[in-house]
Amino acid sequence: MTVILGAGLSGLSAAAWLTRAGRPATVVEKDIQVGGLARTVTHGDYRFDLGGHRFLTDNQQLQSFVSELLGDDLLSVPRKSQIYIAGQYIDYPLTPLNAVFGMGPAKTGRILLDYGKEKVLGAFRHKKITSLEDWVVAQFGRTIFELYFKNYSEKVWGIDSRNISKDWVSKRIDGLSLGRFIQHSLVKFRRHRVKTLTDTFVYPRMGIGQLADRMSELIQTKNVVKTGSAVESIFHKQGRITSIQWACAGKKHDITGSSYISSLPITQFIAKMNPQPPDAVRSAAARIRFRSLVVVALFLKKRRLTDLTWMYFPENTVPFGRIHEPKNWSSELAPRGRSHVIAEYFCNTGDSIWQSSEKALSDLTADHLEKLGFLARSDVLDSAVLRIPYAYPVFELEYHRHLKIITDFLDTFDNLHLIGRSGMFSYLNMDQAMESGILVAEKVMQGCTAEKAAAKEAVPASRPQYLQPEYSS
Ligand SMILES: Cc1cc2nc3c(=O)[nH]c(=O)nc-3n(C[C@H](O)[C@H](O)[C@H](O)COP(=O)(O)OP(=O)(O)OC[C@H]3O[C@@H](n4cnc5c(N)ncnc54)[C@H](O)[C@@H]3O)c2cc1C
Repeated sequence: MTVILGAGLSGLSAAAWLTRAGRPATVVEKDIQVGGLARTVTHGDYRFDLGGHRFLTDNQQLQSFVSELLGDDLLSVPRKSQIYIAGQYIDYPLTPLNAVFGMGPAKTGRILLDYGKEKVLGAFRHKKITSLEDWVVAQFGRTIFELYFKNYSEKVWGIDSRNISKDWVSKRIDGLSLGRFIQHSLVKFRRHRVKTLTDTFVYPRMGIGQLADRMSELIQTKNVVKTGSAVESIFHKQGRITSIQWACAGKKHDITGSSYISSLPITQFIAKMNPQPPDAVRSAAARIRFRSLVVVALFLKKRRLTDLTWMYFPENTVPFGRIHEPKNWSSELAPRGRSHVIAEYFCNTGDSIWQSSEKALSDLTADHLEKLGFLARSDVLDSAVLRIPYAYPVFELEYHRHLKIITDFLDTFDNLHLIGRSGMFSYLNMDQAMESGILVAEKVMQGCTAEKAAAKEAVPASRPQYLQPEYSS
């Protein structure tokens, strides 16, 4: 039997694959709901994701699996987003007209001059590129970096962009330069009526959580998903995981399997191991960290706020980083004649945003949305606040070194497989999280521990090249 820790998309995908193959599996999830970061929350007649979740994949097998699960409930949604910078709303994905020329002739001149300067300097300078700042400046020039990357990245990560590893951005937009970006955008501009993969995306009618719910139903035709069950201890002996202990409604339970697949945040996994790992591993785990998210939902007596998928707010004059209006993703997410808006605050567990009361957070959100002209305070009928730890693995400059110590140690366990965004400490999107679970399930079915390393290699470290810088997801 395979024991799977965590019922986010990665854990559920692993369990669904095993279930479809007739293999026994039990999923243990601490939340009362499945889906993890990709769950949809219900509040009266409203539903919302923890930040709108757009599903994209170029993996045909995965796309078919998702289509099979959701059938007619899979909508095709047009994507239309904007960034608010210097009092202007700029289309996102960026178009050359907006990104380069939309800022007035002086800034346009600076953008092009900076870009040229970097390209000339880059040919002579052999500077080691380690940080997000170095990487973006080298690719796009300093003006583009300061306009579009610096503030938003610092808002997401809460640290200076000189201390954010280039890994985060370079994996997502590798090979893209301002020249290629303009070329691509111009081609797109000429053919702007042709819908491409990034112009539309698929989305479940009842919110992204419907995907997890359907997988959970599939798993429970033959196997078990235990929700409200928090893993507390992971017992091991002589290089093997021997059992898991979890608590549900105040009672402790144990389960033993032949293989264990974990999507728990990797630092949590280390903390729960019994006996405890060596000091070096524990101190490496103390040196990597996750960024948290506070989601504020305002329920409105207003039919619609925008026609947008997402709106980004990089500047620190606005305290949240992004908003979305669920109704623009699926009309089923709000009652007739009403709408709601979801604001994402990037923060650290325990900081002032994390600790603010629901009233303070909803007032703060409403005040800023009013100032920006989206609503009047009197439109707000109700609010909800969710606090989400482990939302983003933080790629500080030295993170690889610490992560390697941890993964080298965990790799010595024959029957343990790490999957998912927090489980692998990798900036995975939903499709990649699902792929990580599926690949490991296939390896488990092949009964191979020797191939564990190969499975790890096969898990995509990032989505195949984006043609646009993707902001937080
Ligand atoms: C704001 C935001 C927006 C995003 N938007 C997009 C998007 O548009 N498109 C996209 O593709 N991706 C998006 N993502 C990324 C996407 O959410 C993740 O890639 C995906 O959900 C990760 O799934 P996972 O299974 O790896 O991890 P998780 O969803 O984190 O699952 C881990 C599970 O483990 C459980 N767990 C933790 N501790 C314990 C314990 N002790 N015992 C038992 N269970 C435990 C958790 O409750 C959770 O359910 C977004 C992420 C965020 C934060």
